[in-house]
Order: sequence, then C-alpha cells, then structure tokens
Amino acid sequence: MPKRPLKKQTLAVHGGTLRSQFGETSEAIYLTQGFVYSSPEQAEERFIEAGENEFIYSRYGNPTVRMFENRMALLEGLEDAFATASGMAGVNGALFSNLSAGDTIVSSRALFGSCLYILENVLPRFGVKVEFVDGTDNAQWESKVNPDTKVIFVETVSNPTLEVIDLEFVYNLAKKNDAIVIADNALASPQFFKAGKLGADIVVYSATKHIDGQGRSLGGIVIGTKDYIRGQFESYLKHTGGAISPFNAWIMLKGLETLTVRTNYQADSALKIASELEGLSNLSKVVYPHLPSHPQYNLARELMSRGGTVFALDFEGGKEASFKFMNKLEIVKISNNFGDAKSLVTHPATTTHQRLSEEQRSRLGISDGLVRVSVGLENTEDLLEDLETAIKTI
Ligand SMILES: *Cc1c(COP(=O)(O)O)cnc(C)c1O
Repeated sequence: MPKRPLKKQTLAVHGGTLRSQFGETSEAIYLTQGFVYSSPEQAEERFIEAGENEFIYSRYGNPTVRMFENRMALLEGLEDAFATASGMAGVNGALFSNLSAGDTIVSSRALFGSCLYILENVLPRFGVKVEFVDGTDNAQWESKVNPDTKVIFVETVSNPTLEVIDLEFVYNLAKKNDAIVIADNALASPQFFKAGKLGADIVVYSATKHIDGQGRSLGGIVIGTKDYIRGQFESYLKHTGGAISPFNAWIMLKGLETLTVRTNYQADSALKIASELEGLSNLSKVVYPHLPSHPQYNLARELMSRGGTVFALDFEGGKEASFKFMNKLEIVKISNNFGDAKSLVTHPATTTHQRLSEEQRSRLGISDGLVRVSVGLENTEDLLEDLETAIKTI
C-alpha cells in the first residue's frame, strides 16, 4: 500500500491486511487457539515481548483479529485498537482498565441500557463515584467536571433519543481537568461521526451494528493510543477473557469493505423517509439529527457528515398507537438491533429500556410512544410506503 494518507473508503477495504505465503485475495481466517514455536528459546522470547505480528494465544491476539484491529485504528485515525467479543466487552474493558476505587466518572445520562447498568449498578460497588449530566447541556458538563474527574463517558449520538454530544467542547473541558474521554460511537457509526478526530481519547464500537452490517455476529472494538491499547487495555482484556473469535473478526473485516456504500445509502434513505414522515398526523415528532427540527440540528450538521441510519418516531397515542403501527409493518421487522441490512423497528420503553423506572425513562425522553427505526438497504420507496401506510392506518 502507498505511504501517502489514504481516504477512509480505501482504508475500509485494504487497511491492515496481512497476507500469508499463499497470497490470498480475501483475508484468511486463522481459526486457531494457539501458535507453535520453533524452540523453547523462541517461546521464552515471545513471552518476554511479542513483536508486531507475533502471536501467543488467541485470547491475547490472532492474525485475523489483528487485521480487524489495524483496519479500525486506521479508519478512526488513532494509533491502535483491540477487538472484543461484543460491544459491551469493549465498554466494560474501557471503563475497568481506567477506573479504580475512589475515582469519579462523569457521564451523559442518555445511554444504551447495558452501559447504564455498568455505570449505575456495577461501578459504584467497586467504589467508583458516578455522576450523570444532561449530555446536551454544556453548562452541566462544566459544573460537574473538575480536577477530581478521572473519566468522562459519552454516547456520541444517544440510543434511542438521538441526542448529539458536543464532543469538542467535552474534550477541551476534559483536557483542562486532566480527564480521559471515552466515547461510545456505535449509533453514529465510524462513517458519520469522527469521534477520534473530535477528541475522544478512547473510542468504543459495538461492531455488531454497522460494522458487521448484516446482523450476523457480535463484536466490539476499543481504539486509542498505542500506549493505552497495548498496555492498560490489552493487559485487562487478555486476562479477563473478552476476546473476539477470529471467525467473527473476519465477518467484521468483510463488513468493513462495504461500510461506506451501505451506510451512505442507509443514511440517505433515513433522511428522505424521516423528512416525508414529519408532519403526518398521529406523530407528535420525528427525531433525526439532520432534520432542521432536531434541537441540535446545527451541531449535528457540524459534527456529522450525514445524519446516520436511525430515526425515532413519537406517537401521540403512546404505547397502543406504537404497537398498532408496529403490527401493521410488512417490510420493516420488529427487532432490537440496528445498523442491519434489514430495516428494524424497536419500542424502547417495553424492550431495551424496560428495566428503567417510568421516571428514569421520562428523564431520558423515552416516552411510551417512542419507536426507533433503523433503516436498512431495502429500496427507499418501498420502506417509505410500508412506514407511511402503517402510520396512516393506526
Ligand atoms: C449495541 C450497543 C452496545 C452493545 O454492543 P453489543 O455488541 O450488543 O455488546 C453498546 N453501546 C451502544 C450505543 C449500542 O448501541
């Protein structure tokens, strides 16, 4: 590959490729637990320090997994990456590798259910002080972040309410207070929100979503400086067992090859459909970062190259209307995932955020009428007709 800087689309196809002596076109799957050594001396040396592309055991690292890690680091514009068994293994690792008893973490409140579980129910048991802010309100960040803050955690674009974090602002505040910014960029995707460039020290993805892109396997990835990833993070992850299977890493590599075309098409469809649905009766609002009606439209236009693949609908008739709508859909499937080739619809209040109290949900803006739609690769007109018909026939 040329030494000059390459565009993301090219990196998503070629970045990090390691070829065996056979010169295979497609990336090889190294489905092996371990690696053999030519001598005990070589084994001893490798355990002292494994060089680039030298492997010991697949819980520590594996050639197929390494290709996925290197490709993701290049795409994010950060130095290194470590792949994990799921997005949550990545979030958990990023938090636990950075925090100790007595530390304080400040986080945006609008989070994915499992992230919220770690922050609310797990970290406090280990003596970590957890504080929440409304992530869209820079004044709240300013009032909570201080020199005692060790880590700031954000979901760059929140699931399912699609709130956008002013990451540059949060980063500058973090640097003034010597805090580390961890950004979960899963909903926005690596295609539309440049979390690494905008100042996240550590970027985490659920690769299960747009990176796989076809709903096949779980995976996650944590991206940051070489020092952090190969030091603190690798030590934590390789000893606690959250390694990704080489087969799943291969699926993610293949997914990355089509990431650009898939997500651009999905986002263009999402904008078109969201714009068309806005204003239909039965709906109190349509939430999409690149609709002018989004409360953070200007920020979303500034930080996101497109508005993403997900929008939310809020039905005036609450749960009853939402369920009627979902039952009428013929193409869009009911499921709790997003970023899939198939369009999917979720009712967060009764599924992903069911665990929360009504009061917690209302604080997060998750009403009983809120429905999240992940736009897939189907024809835009077909999807629009499916959604519009279902909305009109409630
Ligand atoms: C899905 C998701 C996760 C968890 O990822 P898994 O691969 O399901 O473990 C974490 N954060 C966000 C924002 C997500 O959407």
